[in-house]
Amino acid sequence: MQSIRTPSYDVFIENGLVGRLGDRIPPALMPRRALLVADETVARRYGARAKRSLEAVGIQVHTLPLKAGGYCQTLNALKEIAAKLNELNMGAEDALVPMGGGVLCDMGGFAAWNHKQMIRLIQVPTTLIGMTDWAIQGKTAIEHKVGSRMIGSFFPPSLILIDPQTSFTQPTREFDSGMAEVIKCACAADASLFHMLESLTGRAAVEARLEEISWRCLCIKQSLQGREQAKMMLGHHLGHVIETAQRYRGLLHGEAIGVGMLMTSRLGEALGMTVKGTTERIESCLTRYSLPISTFADETAFMACLRTMPRFEAVLPERVGWSILRQLDNTFLLNAWQHSHRANIRSM
Ligand SMILES: [Zn+2]
Repeated sequence: MQSIRTPSYDVFIENGLVGRLGDRIPPALMPRRALLVADETVARRYGARAKRSLEAVGIQVHTLPLKAGGYCQTLNALKEIAAKLNELNMGAEDALVPMGGGVLCDMGGFAAWNHKQMIRLIQVPTTLIGMTDWAIQGKTAIEHKVGSRMIGSFFPPSLILIDPQTSFTQPTREFDSGMAEVIKCACAADASLFHMLESLTGRAAVEARLEEISWRCLCIKQSLQGREQAKMMLGHHLGHVIETAQRYRGLLHGEAIGVGMLMTSRLGEALGMTVKGTTERIESCLTRYSLPISTFADETAFMACLRTMPRFEAVLPERVGWSILRQLDNTFLLNAWQHSHRANIRSM
C-alpha cells in the first residue's frame, strides 16, 4: 500500500482496495451513512464489493447508479445526486462516495460542496487518468458548454481511495489515453519515472507496476507548489487547441495532450529552449504506448484557435524530467509552427 498525506486529506493507493474501502477510513472520518454514486458500468463491476466493504465497518450504505456514458457530465446527473442527498437528509456525519472517472468524482465533489449541510467526501477514482492525473487538486467541477471545468469550486475531499486494479477493465484506447498523462507527469518533473516508462512493454507490464506509477505521479503533483503546479499543464495548451479545433470529437483528451506535448517539445528545440533529442524520446515513448503522434485536426481550425491565445504561459520541457514556464505570444508561436511543425498536422 502507498499513501500520500496532503495538508487536508490522505490518499491511499492499494491493489484490491475497492473490496477494503471501509478498512481504510480513519476512525475520525468514519461516516454513519454513505451515498455511493457510480455509473451503471462501474456499479455493476465494483458496486457490490464497495458496498460490502463499507457495510463491514458498520456504515449504512445507500447507492445511486447513474446512466453510463455522457449522462454523468450533465446537469441532470448533478440534480439526481443533489436530490438523493436531500431525500436522505444527509449531513455532517455522513459521506458522499463518488466512484468512477475524474468527471464523476468532480461532479460528486461539486454536489458535496453544493449540499445545504456539510458532508464528508470520499472519492474513489477508477480510471487511469483519475488515479494518476486528476486526484490531488481539491477542485470540483461540472462539465458545461461554457467550457470544461469552468463551473466549479474548491472543496477538498476528506479522503481519496485508489484501487489501481479498477482501471484494468478500462477499454484499451481509454487506458492508453491515461498513459499520455502519466508520460506527461514524468516528462515534466520525474526523469526516473520517464526512464521506467521507457523500459515497460505492454499493458500488463504497466498494470503490474501501477500501484507505484500512480503513487509517483501523485507525489509529483503533491511536490509542485505555487506557480510550479503549472508544470502539470505540459502539452495542455496545444492539446486544448487540438481538442477545440476537433470540437472534442477527434482525439481523446490524453491523446491530444500527448500530441500537444510532442509539438511543444519540438517547438522548444526550435527555440533553443529544449535539449536536442528530447522530442525523439517523447515520440518514442508515446509510440510505445500506442499513442498518436500527429493529429487530423483541420489546420485552419487549429490556427484559428491558436490566434485566440495572444499571449500565454507555455510549459516547455527543458529536458526529459524537467520543464520550464515561459511567456510566449502566438505570433512567435505561429511563425515557429509554420516554419518547423507543419508535419504534425495532416489536413483532413
Ligand atoms: Zn489533462
